[in-house]
Amino acid sequence: RGMIEDYCERNPNSQRLHKKALDILPGGNTRSVLHVDPFPICMKGGVGNKLVDADEHEYLDLVGEMTAGLYGHSHPIIRDTIISTISTTGLNLGATTAEEVLFAEQIRRRLPSMEQMRFCNSGTEANLYALSIARSATGLSKIIVFRGGYHGGVLSFIHGIAENNVDKGDWVVGKYNDVEGTKKLISENEGLAAAVLVEGMQGAGGCIPGSPEFLHAIQTATKAHGMLFILDEVMTSRLAPGGIQSTIVSPAGTTALRPDLTTLGKWIAGGLSIGCFGGRKELISVYDPRAIPVSDDSAQMAQISHSGTFNNNTFAMNVGLLALSTIYTGQACTYLNAMGDWFRQELVERSAGTNITITGIGSVCNIHFISNKKSVVMAVEDLEIGQTETDSMLRDIFWFYAIRKGFWIARRGMLSLILDTSREELQCFLGMVEDFV
Ligand code: PLP
Repeated sequence: RGMIEDYCERNPNSQRLHKKALDILPGGNTRSVLHVDPFPICMKGGVGNKLVDADEHEYLDLVGEMTAGLYGHSHPIIRDTIISTISTTGLNLGATTAEEVLFAEQIRRRLPSMEQMRFCNSGTEANLYALSIARSATGLSKIIVFRGGYHGGVLSFIHGIAENNVDKGDWVVGKYNDVEGTKKLISENEGLAAAVLVEGMQGAGGCIPGSPEFLHAIQTATKAHGMLFILDEVMTSRLAPGGIQSTIVSPAGTTALRPDLTTLGKWIAGGLSIGCFGGRKELISVYDPRAIPVSDDSAQMAQISHSGTFNNNTFAMNVGLLALSTIYTGQACTYLNAMGDWFRQELVERSAGTNITITGIGSVCNIHFISNKKSVVMAVEDLEIGQTETDSMLRDIFWFYAIRKGFWIARRGMLSLILDTSREELQCFLGMVEDFV
């Protein structure tokens, strides 16, 4: 209670703005995930990896816009590209541009399984389009997903099938990382399910890495039972130069994952809104307006339309091209994720013997507060099957504590690193965790 009183006293402007917002935005905001009781902090602006709130407090940004804010708030190349786009290219041109081709080529160079692709405006949209392809290619409607999966605002399976899901009846929800159960589910749904949609690491579901056995079993079983394998890399594509798919080696040999379709979003356009879906050429050709089949498969696929006023908006295309080619290069990606691995390990050490558990890969991790913890190993297993009970009181106390100390973190405990965050800054956060523990 003392912490909340202190929070209210320190943040009168945020509180006032929230009251005003309640009149016009349900709950006072337009992204449910940002809600905090008694009111969320309202940010005024950001520079680099720092944020300043409406009451002039400064924070080290460890939310990193839930992985999209990889480049921080004022990266000079991104700022210059935005300025040059408005002053020389102009806003949306109502036409194709050279940059969208170059941007797509940059993506394919990293993720060769995306033989062809199309752009849209968000990760949610990218997944919806990928599902349309799967349904069109197979003529089937069901989709296999996993509890704890998050594929967008209307495609959330964090608590099973969410109320707001589109196509309510068409989901089959499996257990993440359950190899045998998933093989069975895929075989039972032959002739019914069009695709399996899965993350290589469940992000919003708590940064739970998928095991190679599980992900390769999906790849093999979908092929055997006439379904498409859709890998949602909206979040995980930043974890390795070739996306998480390049790192998940089959248990038996050396082959990485090669999904039929991959979806991207979040960080790929330098922090501007973006979505992208791509994969096998004969599948993506369903969107080819020339309606010329490129293989026997596509000859049988119905042509479907993919439009969207802002799909190739000049800001996202120009900034995305430079972000991939000059900022988040393979080398920068490897560096950031190595730092993330070090940071996560330090967090693990500092929370040993407590009911805090740390999960994640590279530059993205999650701090969990577990109330029914028996051991760290058991807790991770429970997390995977969505059965862990979060100690929500402790989680919230940690959030208020971290905010008070100047660290901006997501209430659910997720942290995603920004490129220019230093080891020294992360050491300060580790010191705060040590004091808290
Ligand atoms: N897929 C995954 C794995 C995500 O984490 C998210 C967003 O958090 C989405 C899809 C949806 O992306 P967007 O918020 O751009 O619609």
